[in-house]
Amino acid sequence: MISENKINIAIDGAAATGKSTLAKRLAKELYYIYVDTGAMYRAVTYFALKKNSFSNILQLDQLLKSLPDLKIEFKSTAKGQIIFLNGEDISNAIRYPEINLHVSTLASNAEIRKFLVIQQQQIALNKGVVMDGRDIGTVVLPHAECKFFLKATSEIRAQRRYEEQQKAGIDESYHSVLQNVLHRDRLDATRDISPLKKAFDAFEIDVTKLTIDEVFEKMREYLISLGIITF
Ligand code: C5P
Repeated sequence: MISENKINIAIDGAAATGKSTLAKRLAKELYYIYVDTGAMYRAVTYFALKKNSFSNILQLDQLLKSLPDLKIEFKSTAKGQIIFLNGEDISNAIRYPEINLHVSTLASNAEIRKFLVIQQQQIALNKGVVMDGRDIGTVVLPHAECKFFLKATSEIRAQRRYEEQQKAGIDESYHSVLQNVLHRDRLDATRDISPLKKAFDAFEIDVTKLTIDEVFEKMREYLISLGIITF
């Protein structure tokens, strides 16, 4: 696929709707940069837990004071995208259940959001970005030329996340994964700042009964229908 003039593509949706798999694939086909904003919220959470040796989370005021010291970087490698926090590769560590437990609480904090949203907007300044998250089409890139909003039942999302975790060697029961998905959905959808919400101009896809290939095909068709993508 070729996009003649580079655009920005926003992909939003609840946890485990396949956003990152689809965003990565789109970015690869279009030779765009993929930005996983969830990983950035996870990086801040990792920092807050590591500071207390993973025994409990850092006090919020201490974390907020430390924000300017946090350097989050992405690097594309043959193995996929790697995320670094102050030079440390945290790509695997940010997927652990302890992070899942705390990330949405920290993501509801206005200062943490502002700190990360500024960085996300900077990355997208030159266009050619596929960014996934919860507030990309509504807050981070409200003028993105193309926006997708993915939805699916919580059971199917938990099942997919459970299978992914099993493959990655993370031992957590399906029940616990489902509880975490429901907990994060609740926090993400009800927070005051930038709640998970479909942008009015986003193309919605219910992925419950679709394979990743089928969703990707719908995205591709939509991009073509906008007249932005050609072959
Ligand atoms: O996308 P992922 O599930 O890895 O995101 C982890 C958490 O980060 C989400 O549950 C949500 O609370 C938060 N998040 C957010 N805004 C984004 C991306 C993620 O609030 N743009």
